[in-house]
Amino acid sequence: MQNSPLTAKVRKDFPILKREIHGHPLAYLDNAATTQKPKCVIDALVNFYEKHNSNISRGVYTLAEEATEIYEDGRETVAKFIGAADSGKIIFSRGTTESINLIAAAWIQPKLKAGDRIIVTEMEHHSNLVPWQLAAQTSGAELLYWPINLESEKSGIGSLDLQKFEEMLKDATKIKQGIRLLAVTAVSNVLGTVNPIAEIVKIAHSHGVPVLVDAAQAAARMPIDVARWDCDFLAFSGHKIYGPTGIGVLYVKNERLEEMQPFQGGGGMIRQVNRQTSTWADAPQKFEAGTPPVAEVYGLTAAVEYLSDIGMQEIQQHEIELTNHALKRFAEFNDLELYGPQDINSRSGVLSFNLRNVHPHDVAQVLDESGIGVRAGHHCTQVLHKRLGIVASVRMSFGLYNNTSEIDLLISELDRCRQLFIE
Ligand code: PMP
Repeated sequence: MQNSPLTAKVRKDFPILKREIHGHPLAYLDNAATTQKPKCVIDALVNFYEKHNSNISRGVYTLAEEATEIYEDGRETVAKFIGAADSGKIIFSRGTTESINLIAAAWIQPKLKAGDRIIVTEMEHHSNLVPWQLAAQTSGAELLYWPINLESEKSGIGSLDLQKFEEMLKDATKIKQGIRLLAVTAVSNVLGTVNPIAEIVKIAHSHGVPVLVDAAQAAARMPIDVARWDCDFLAFSGHKIYGPTGIGVLYVKNERLEEMQPFQGGGGMIRQVNRQTSTWADAPQKFEAGTPPVAEVYGLTAAVEYLSDIGMQEIQQHEIELTNHALKRFAEFNDLELYGPQDINSRSGVLSFNLRNVHPHDVAQVLDESGIGVRAGHHCTQVLHKRLGIVASVRMSFGLYNNTSEIDLLISELDRCRQLFIE
């Protein structure tokens, strides 16, 4: 097995990698869907329930104080991880999806009017499309699509053309259309495209348009700095950054917090409850009704500390090396159609492809027989798949424990697909 110094160091931290699938070592290449968990994250969950379990903020006894500290320390650790310590607040949610729905319900919906527009890109995950559709439908607003590039060599296939975005904003100004938000992913969960978020935010802000960044894929793959990006909102999920399921992060810039209505009502988010009306706690508690996911925050904190100890730059470099290897190997075959940028500088380690004349589900099933886990389908991006002129694709996506041997294994198993389904 060809392990880089990073994989050699980290593979032993992930108990699931000892598993065999159909008599073969597990080659887990579905990290865009969810990541495996290091022992420290699993231990944190057990440790919480064995030693600290209690509800937060509702008791003055030792366990309740410990749980509260765990929860609030987690908030601080996450804020540091994404460079948010001074510029805004971290709100905990159940995942990227809930974080985006929170902004749709608590921030944009109350202010949307008929004729308003929300700009989204054609590469968005359904989580960053459907909440805006729902918000728009109640007010007569509409979604405008920033198209992906399918031709230009300069920008690369599957990238976003910044000039096109400027044009959309200028056109909107000419006809006095209110653009209320740009919702854009930092990394595409299909094309692997890495979008230039700082540049995009600068253009959007110069036209007075706030920006929400979907960082579900980016958070595990590159350093994130919300203060430098200057985005208004940013969302990601714990389970995609080696943490537990059921925990998500929403970053909101300080100046936007004042504009937000409560999301859900209940305990913990109030200051005073009267018979007919109530007043609200300060942010972030105002947006965290009910008993929060304390154990999950503890697990997420362990994941963030684990990643920070390794270093996000090193993780990004490792992914670049794997992606380079995969791009070279893919280029050997002319019956393999890869979607997304070919240029390593504008893509990450999420690679979707089709093998000519073989259904993606068949490919995924054959690969599973050799212990390889990849995803087949539309990956919650039906708008994108329609734009690409396909209904489904196979997706291989890297994590920090993957190595080049696993990519080579996948490539050689594609030969078996050819033999089974074509020849
Ligand atoms: N956005 C992107 C880019 C994603 O890849 C995903 C998960 N596939 C989501 C949003 C939704 O994340 P979750 O299901 O964890 O809420």
